[in-house]
Amino acid sequence: MTSTRWLAEYAWLPERAAPTPEVLIETVNGRITAVTPLSPGGPPDAGVDVLADAVRLPGLTLPGLANAHSHAFHRALRGHTHGGRGDFWSWRDQMYAVTARLNPDSYLALARAVYAEMALAGITCVGEFHYLHHGAGGTPYDDPNAMSAALVEAAAHAGIRLTLLDTCYLTATVDGQPLTGSQLRFGDGDALRWADRVSAFTPDGRHARLGAAIHSVRAVPAEQLATVAGWAHRRDAPLHVHLSEQPAENDACRAVHGRTPTGLLADHGVLGPATTAVHATHPTSGDVGLLGESRTGVCLCPTTERDLADGIGPARRMADAGIPLSLGSDSHAVIDPFEEARAVELDERLRTRKRGHFAPAELLHAASAAGHAALGWTDAGRIAVGGRADLVTVRLDSVRTAGVAPAGVWFAAGAADVTQVVVDGRVLVRDGHHLTVDVPQELADAIAEVAP
Ligand SMILES: [Zn+2]
Repeated sequence: MTSTRWLAEYAWLPERAAPTPEVLIETVNGRITAVTPLSPGGPPDAGVDVLADAVRLPGLTLPGLANAHSHAFHRALRGHTHGGRGDFWSWRDQMYAVTARLNPDSYLALARAVYAEMALAGITCVGEFHYLHHGAGGTPYDDPNAMSAALVEAAAHAGIRLTLLDTCYLTATVDGQPLTGSQLRFGDGDALRWADRVSAFTPDGRHARLGAAIHSVRAVPAEQLATVAGWAHRRDAPLHVHLSEQPAENDACRAVHGRTPTGLLADHGVLGPATTAVHATHPTSGDVGLLGESRTGVCLCPTTERDLADGIGPARRMADAGIPLSLGSDSHAVIDPFEEARAVELDERLRTRKRGHFAPAELLHAASAAGHAALGWTDAGRIAVGGRADLVTVRLDSVRTAGVAPAGVWFAAGAADVTQVVVDGRVLVRDGHHLTVDVPQELADAIAEVAP
């Protein structure tokens, strides 16, 4: 039995508007067994001696943060695509060039480094929206799930949990044009063959679980959407889908199907509480209604949406419609949950020219419990008895955070202020360093192998 007592200078407990000072958190075998605020009035019984063996956590301790939308290999594009003009579609061509260099070995090395970078930022769980399934020209590897296995192993090495969202990707356009060139590696032919391949895969390790994804209404024909949704529903697995990131997708979908992408997904049984729509940057009012009524979640990826000139999603309107919001770093132009979370509020300010749309506790919820729930880990993301012992400690004495009220970290801190990360009761990051991965070196080496 592994049992630890942690004494947090501040801890952000569920349903609290702000952090609580002096909280004793007890964990046994990776679970939280007791949460005791010590002030006012000091320790509950025997005083200072009770705390003699406690591990001090100076600063603010948060629950584990969840990155609900990742394409690990996009990290190789950071800093390589910012010189020219263009838009989402020209960026996508550069992204495709990276895929040509990836195989199970180089994917493992890159993803391991990227997931370790996430760990340093306080991310204890990632949702990998994975569509790079096959070898050159679309030829399956000897193990057709070799790329999936590489991602699962990468997360194990990096020490974080993973939901592998195995993505069905069949066509190039809403009107069903076939995959060509780089896209051939994404395709399984049809949704039934996608389901057969995925069903044969069991992630190796308790840190990983399997979910499904529909790449988008561009990539899965309407009559095959229900096959993917049915696979996820039968397994009670999370189902994710890129949705309305670009107005062009909406226009094409209306032209072909006479429906918005959200309407099309609703028609085919894709929406629901286990479904997460990624982006939802350009929904109509009717779309927001459909998402809210079905309790479909939305994963916002603000740093990617700004990097790719996508636009600003109606975050407050969606939250008010009952849509659970989570966060993802998607293309990894930035991996920083604090930047991602504050962008939700700050983007609303730019749009409305008013402040104060999201309370700090709402930003925390999106970055932690809501993200974990969107990935199927409903017992994580809260510092509460019975929950997974994920603890992310942020220093309050850095050049960025000195003098900041603890609740203000969402507007002041960055990933570099994370000092310690505990996942399932195990210390993964200490003093800002990953204990098993030399993250900058491994990133540099892995990206040198595959960069365009
Ligand atoms: Zn994406």
